[in-house]
Amino acid sequence: MRILVVGGGGREHAICWALRKSPKVSELYCAPGNGGIAEVAECVPLQVNQFEEIGQFAVDLAIDLVVIGPDDPLADGIVDHLEAKGLTVFGPRANAAIIEGSKVFTKDLLRKYNIPTAAYESFERYEEARAFLDRLKAPYVIKADGLAAGKGVIIAQTLEEAEKALQDIMVAKVFGDSGNQVVIEEFLTGQEMSILSFVDGETVRPMVPAQDHKAVYDGDKGPNTGGMGTYTPLPHIPQSVIDEAIESIIKPTARAMVAEGRPFRGVLFAGLMLTPDGPKTIEFNARFGDPETQVVLPRLKTDLLDIFLAAVNGRLDQMDIQWSDEAAVCVILASEGYPSSYPKGLPITGLDEVQDSLVFHAGTAAKEGQIVTNGGRVIGVTALGKDIAEARAKAYADADRIRFQGKHYRTDIAKKALV
Ligand code: ATP
Repeated sequence: MRILVVGGGGREHAICWALRKSPKVSELYCAPGNGGIAEVAECVPLQVNQFEEIGQFAVDLAIDLVVIGPDDPLADGIVDHLEAKGLTVFGPRANAAIIEGSKVFTKDLLRKYNIPTAAYESFERYEEARAFLDRLKAPYVIKADGLAAGKGVIIAQTLEEAEKALQDIMVAKVFGDSGNQVVIEEFLTGQEMSILSFVDGETVRPMVPAQDHKAVYDGDKGPNTGGMGTYTPLPHIPQSVIDEAIESIIKPTARAMVAEGRPFRGVLFAGLMLTPDGPKTIEFNARFGDPETQVVLPRLKTDLLDIFLAAVNGRLDQMDIQWSDEAAVCVILASEGYPSSYPKGLPITGLDEVQDSLVFHAGTAAKEGQIVTNGGRVIGVTALGKDIAEARAKAYADADRIRFQGKHYRTDIAKKALV
C-alpha cells in the first residue's frame, strides 16, 4: 500500500519507522519530513498547512492512506479536506479535533457527561475573568481556549501574575484568537500520566501509558517545552489506577463524542493527573504525543498499518494489539537556548556511533550530505531495555555519542520510576 504521513517531527519519524516495518507498506511518503525521516520515507516538500497541495499529491500518487501527525492541521480540518477528495485518512475530523482545539469545548463536554476533571469556569470578557480570581486562592490555573503551541497554560503563584496572564491572553491577545475565551480552573496535585488510545468512534484501544518531562531543566526547573523526554511503562503507578483512568475518563469521553455527533477517529491522547481523589483529566489531544510516541511505538508488536486500517474501517474491536514487556526511555537533545531562540544549521556528528538506541529526528535537516540542526528539539534518543534502569542507561550512553554545538538535555528522565 502507498502511505503518506503528514508532519516532520520526532513523532512522525517514529510513525514512519513503525510503518516501515509493515510488509504491506510498499511506498512511504512524508510531508515535509526531516533529515532522519528521509532514511525511511521519501520526503515531499509540502508544509502541513498546504491542504490543497497535499490532497493533490495524494490523489496523483493514488495514496491508499494518509496519516496526520500534528495538531494544527487537524484543528483546521485537513481530514475533512482530504476526505472530500475521496482519500482515506487516519485522524479526527475538525468536529472531533476540537477536543484539543478548544479547552472550553472539552471542559463543557466533561462537565456535561460527569467525567472527572478540575472544577472550572470559562470567560469571554476580561473583567468577569478578573473578578472571578478574587474568589480563588493561589495557585491560579489559567488556560487560553485555543491552540497556543503548548504555551497557553499559565500556573500563576500570585494574584498579580494571574491578572497579568489574563491581560496577556484576553487583552493583548498574545495567542491571537486562541485567547478569545479563557478557562480558569482548580489547581490539581499528583503525578501526571499520558495515555494515548487508538479510537474508531465507539471502540477505545489504549496504548501503554507514558510520562513526559515538560520543563527544560532537571528537577522540573525552567520554562515548559514541547517535552524533554518520556518513558514507559510506569512501574510506580498501580495498574488499577491506569485501568480506572481508562474506564472513568477515556472510554466515557469517546462515548460522549459519539453522543454529541462528533465521533472521534484517530489517536486520542489523555493528559491525566492522578490526584488523591482519583485520576482527573488535564487535557485531551487529538493526535499522537511528541515525545510519547517515541517510547510507545517501539513497544508495539502489532503491525501499525493494520491498526490504522482497522480504525478507519471501524473495526478496532476486532484487532489483537500486542505490546512488548520491555521498558523504553526517550531523551530529547535540544538546541542551545531552547525553548527560547536557538541557532539552526549546526552540524550533528556521532550519529553512526550510536549503539543501542533508536534515533528519532525532530528538528534536523540534510544539507549537502550532512545532517544539521533545524529546530529546538533536535533528536530523540530512544532505548529499550528489560527495565527502566537498563533502557535509561542505554539511552544516556547514546545521547552522549551524538554531538552538536550547544546540545543540552535533561539528565533525570525516568529517574522517578527508579525509586
Ligand atoms: P500541551 O503542550 O501538552 O498540549 P497545553 O498547552 O495544552 O499543553 P495542558 O496540558 O492543559 O496545556 O497543561 C500544561 C501543563 O500544565 C500540564 O502538563 C500540567 O503540568 C499543568 N496543568 C494544567 N492544568 C493543571 C491543573 N488544573 N492543575 C495543576 N496543573 C495543571
